[in-house]
Amino acid sequence: MVYESISFYTETILPGVNPGICGNSTSSGRNVSKTAVDVFLSSLSIATPKINGLYAAATTSVVGNDTSIAYAIAQCAETLTTDECKSCLEVAYASISICASNDVIDGRAIESGCFMRYSTIPFFRSNQITDIAPFLRDGGSSNKIAIIGGVVGVVGGLIVLLIVVLWWYCRSKRTMPGGSLYGATELQGSKDYNYNDLKKATNDFGDENKLGEGGFGDVYKATFDDEKVVAVKKLKVRHAGAKIGFENEIQLISQIRHRNLLGLLGWCIDGSNLLLVLEYMPNGSLDRFLWGERKGTLSWKIRYDIILGIARGLAHLHKEVHVRIVHRDIKSSNILLDDALQPKIADFGFARFQPEDQSHVITKFVGTLGYTAPEYVRYGILSDKVDTFSFGIVVLEIISGQMCTSQNLDGPSTEFLLEHAWKLYENQKVVMLVDETMDINPDEEKHVKKIIEIALLCTQSPASERPAMSEVVLMLSSEQSSVERHLTRPNLPYLNRRIHIGSS
Ligand code: ATP
Ligand code: MG
Repeated sequence: MVYESISFYTETILPGVNPGICGNSTSSGRNVSKTAVDVFLSSLSIATPKINGLYAAATTSVVGNDTSIAYAIAQCAETLTTDECKSCLEVAYASISICASNDVIDGRAIESGCFMRYSTIPFFRSNQITDIAPFLRDGGSSNKIAIIGGVVGVVGGLIVLLIVVLWWYCRSKRTMPGGSLYGATELQGSKDYNYNDLKKATNDFGDENKLGEGGFGDVYKATFDDEKVVAVKKLKVRHAGAKIGFENEIQLISQIRHRNLLGLLGWCIDGSNLLLVLEYMPNGSLDRFLWGERKGTLSWKIRYDIILGIARGLAHLHKEVHVRIVHRDIKSSNILLDDALQPKIADFGFARFQPEDQSHVITKFVGTLGYTAPEYVRYGILSDKVDTFSFGIVVLEIISGQMCTSQNLDGPSTEFLLEHAWKLYENQKVVMLVDETMDINPDEEKHVKKIIEIALLCTQSPASERPAMSEVVLMLSSEQSSVERHLTRPNLPYLNRRIHIGSS
């Protein structure tokens, strides 16, 4: 039950980080298929918004020998629309599936507008089970299909005619001189923006609206109708002409929704520029708070929430069903903060705009030195553990308030943050790493030490020694006072050398 003094009927997710609540027991030794549980929960989150009453209870077999069953329910507040219910359950599923992927046998996710729970122990009666299969087919419920089937015979010809006319209309509106795209929205989830509209909303990409600039282009604040504010990132791309390729990539990326991932709202192609329309983050990037103009303003509680949020965003990115993404460029300037200082990871999926970077051993380095895992810098070996490494570096930055390539530390002049942190750890002095602008009490000090250990765990080599991000989320949120794992210091000299990075 919920009551508030303001209307929340259309609210879907709670502001800030709202973790899935994982139980304490795991299914170790029982051969439970994590994939089966994950697919089951994903299916339930897809089917429920299409079911009358926005509620479903379902079961599935999850053990090789067919003797173990997983039970799950999903429910949305009936005040939500189907789409709102869908986006709420997407977030709930993202939280709860972290429990499943870590073999925990029960989990819950509570959002403002929806609820999900699963367990391998029954918690509802067998006569309450909903058959979700018909709702997983395109088009919704079987009733609906039957009705549509009847009607199609009568109005089929008219619909075909209408589709042809609409298709012709959209095509003729879209193609304009200079390659800009105008008019109809073509991609589900992301909007096809008009170049002139973006130009107007940014005051002709004026300096007063410039939010920052990066390696790929500039970022602007855009205001529509004096109220709706978005960020527009102008990317210079080598293959801007390959419109179809971009459309596919953008469609995939815009489907990824998570509270800790920056939403891609739309796009536009203008000549060799690809303009991406992104959620606007009023507090800008994390680096400003660590060593920029807002240094010293973050408490340990806020820093910890930011660390946990980044870990959650990455865990989601790595296990996304439609398009698994390794970010490759996790760094403090790619972590943006919303008005409640909750983090959102920016620039994910951008490496996908380079069509040749498809294989696992890639030939072109995408990333930022200092943050990038050694096996990727040296040999181009790409895996999700590349992001785990960079995450570890960002955590050290968050705790120390120092940039990873900063050399103004106590050691020799070439000693970077990671090496410095390992040395302090080995000498049991990690607390010296803590940002001097941050006051911490003794309890917080213990907590900080544990989080430093997790960060170091993430920077180990070989990559197989590093935890997956879903594991990192569990470690970060567990009550245990230390990670209780042996840490292997990586071979660090590569950090101290200038490395020529091939771009072939
Ligand atoms: P890289 O090009 O390697 O990503 P970068 O992250 O420093 O480097 P950009 O991603 O272009 O460069 O971002 C530049 C700056 O613009 C950021 O540091 C941030 O301050 C600001 N910025 C980017 N996106 C947004 C956004 N959606 N909302 C608000 N500010 C943003
Ligand atoms: Mg960036």
